[in-house]
Amino acid sequence: MKTKAPVSKNERLDVTITDLTYQGMGVAKVDDFPLFIENALPGEDITIQVTKVQSHYGFARAIAWQSESPDRVKDVDKTYRQTGIAPLQHLAYPAQLKFKQHQIEELFSKAHQDVDVAPTLGMANPTQYRNKAQVPVRMIKGKLETGFYRQHSHELIPLTDFYIQDPAIDDAIVKVRDLLRQFEIPAYNEISDKGVIRNIMVRRGYYSHEMMVVLISRQQKLPSQDQLVDQIHKALPEVTSIVLNVNAKKTNVIMGNVTRTLYGKPTIEDTLMGLTFAISARSFYQVNPQQTEKLYQMAIDKAGLTGQETVIDAYCGIGTISLALAKHAKRVYGVDIVPEAIEDAKVNAQKNHLANVEFAVDKAEDQMAKWQEAGIKPDVVVVDPPRKGLAESLIDSTAKMGPKKVVYVSCNPATLVRDVARFQELGYAIDGPIQPVDQFPQTPHVESVTVLVKK
Ligand code: SAH
Repeated sequence: MKTKAPVSKNERLDVTITDLTYQGMGVAKVDDFPLFIENALPGEDITIQVTKVQSHYGFARAIAWQSESPDRVKDVDKTYRQTGIAPLQHLAYPAQLKFKQHQIEELFSKAHQDVDVAPTLGMANPTQYRNKAQVPVRMIKGKLETGFYRQHSHELIPLTDFYIQDPAIDDAIVKVRDLLRQFEIPAYNEISDKGVIRNIMVRRGYYSHEMMVVLISRQQKLPSQDQLVDQIHKALPEVTSIVLNVNAKKTNVIMGNVTRTLYGKPTIEDTLMGLTFAISARSFYQVNPQQTEKLYQMAIDKAGLTGQETVIDAYCGIGTISLALAKHAKRVYGVDIVPEAIEDAKVNAQKNHLANVEFAVDKAEDQMAKWQEAGIKPDVVVVDPPRKGLAESLIDSTAKMGPKKVVYVSCNPATLVRDVARFQELGYAIDGPIQPVDQFPQTPHVESVTVLVKK
């Protein structure tokens, strides 16, 4: 049955916001037809204008407020919402933490599961926390600019203060931008597929203050490359690594396959949980180091290790969780799909004098099946997958190995709910409350730790 939408494009109407989506948009219902509205909070009465109507939902813009939420933060810079850098900046931080807890509760309850979710563990200062920036570079009116795209577009909005990033990184991006201008190195143009610099990535160790600058280029060699590199490390004394990444393809993927160190080392070092980690340009490394330590401590505590256990860390990245657990376990196996991450993980095991770890490059789902066939019997399995969650086959091989505990670190509650249901079918049950840890303040991303035990 096809029903007609009760609203039409450009129509203005008064609504009450009843919900906030997991992307942080306000929801108002007109005769059960949901409208999604940016910068609108639950409880607010707003005059809106409809901007887009689809068959089952629509979008609208907030025009005027008749009443405001007590949780609204006033005088925020709308650029951070438009770019998606901080889509929840207009929601007071304690309410953001409740929102994240509620997201998990609601997704489980929609799946008819009654779970206990603990209050989200937040930050004392929920800004300037990111240790990594990845910014697009474009020419605007003949001038090279760095900033962020307007959401759902490739329109660059120039920015110098990124609000949630380490300010030393913001400063580095401006200095690199100015040097690129000075040497007249052109930015990449996506439409003509010409130009040179596509993106700049900067990572800074939270404890070490070592800084890596990655220039992502369409060309194998930059114009004035030697002078540019020389000037970058002169302008930024913290820089211990300058890397060129070549991406010659017409693609939205940021990095290409070729990476060359132009100055210093191919990695920077930082510490987490008292362990030292080398991190190369293409390896994943948690972006919020302060919260990561809380998250890992939680995972370690929940794993309940005594020193006698065999542990698998699937999706191990550069081995951060693996090595933190290795101190308390008999043996740890880690797997990641990115070869550079596993190279880093092996170096990191040596750096920290941990010999009871073994790392493999593979798809986690395939490696788990191999370990299961090889007869490895883990006591604890830790999984920390990307947003798409676990492959069903990984859950199956895990259950066949029969660990007493599975510690699931999730960055997407929707796939967590799905995967937990699969574990339950195979004889596992949730143990204790799910613990959200706010890794991404000012954004709607929800990170959590769940423990499953074998019944
Ligand atoms: N536990 C690590 C990394 C978590 S991020 C940490 O806390 O730092 C997720 C990791 O999964 C990334 O390192 C990514 O390279 C890896 N990955 C993504 N898909 C994968 C797959 N199918 N198999 C194995 N690893 C995968």
